[in-house]
Amino acid sequence: MKSITKQKSIEDIQEGLKGLDKIFVVGCGTCTTMTKTGGVEQVEEMKGHLQEMGKRVTGSTVIPTACDDMTEVAMKENEQFIRSADAILSMSCALGVHRMSLYLDKPVIPALDTLFIGVEETPGYFREACDQCGQCLLGQTAGICPITACHKGLVNGPCGGTNNGKCEVDKDKDCAWTLIYNRLKEQGRLDLMHQYQPPRNHHVILKPKSVKIT
Ligand code: SF4
Ligand code: SF4
Repeated sequence: MKSITKQKSIEDIQEGLKGLDKIFVVGCGTCTTMTKTGGVEQVEEMKGHLQEMGKRVTGSTVIPTACDDMTEVAMKENEQFIRSADAILSMSCALGVHRMSLYLDKPVIPALDTLFIGVEETPGYFREACDQCGQCLLGQTAGICPITACHKGLVNGPCGGTNNGKCEVDKDKDCAWTLIYNRLKEQGRLDLMHQYQPPRNHHVILKPKSVKIT
């Protein structure tokens, strides 16, 4: 499971860096390397773009996992180059931006948009796998998440628009509830299709989300 990101447009990045001339670039060796949005190659490309914008790159690094404790170590290792910059340009997901912002008093500007938590289904094709709803139904839906796989996020499906196993919203896409039906059938658990799921309780975990595990 990875944080799926896409790069902002160069114009948006330039706008985000307005008034900031010296830039330190940080990538991530985990999720954004996998999505090819913030690995070694993309960091090198970004340095070229920054130079074309007239910025001075004070240095760069790719942190093994930008959202964990390694970030503090990497920031310390590169402290001299980060201190001489006006800002850090982050090519990690938002979790990495959050982490980097905790150390050294420098603005951290995201070069990427964080889209969702997902999996790589086929090379280069990423699919959301979980919306972290706080009330997991996978036990009743044969491991297929109805909230992310169904266009309408229905917890009781299918809707009336399902047609020959395809979704009415996107005819190229399999209907999630047909997939659930077929997999439950294979498991001999079709009785679960008759089990009513109450509407999602959006108060199950209130924003700002946090939990204390004891
Ligand atoms: S039902 Fe779907 S969104 Fe909710 S926790 Fe399970 S996998 Fe995640
Ligand atoms: S056709 Fe299937 S996947 Fe599409 S919205 Fe209806 S139940 Fe969901």
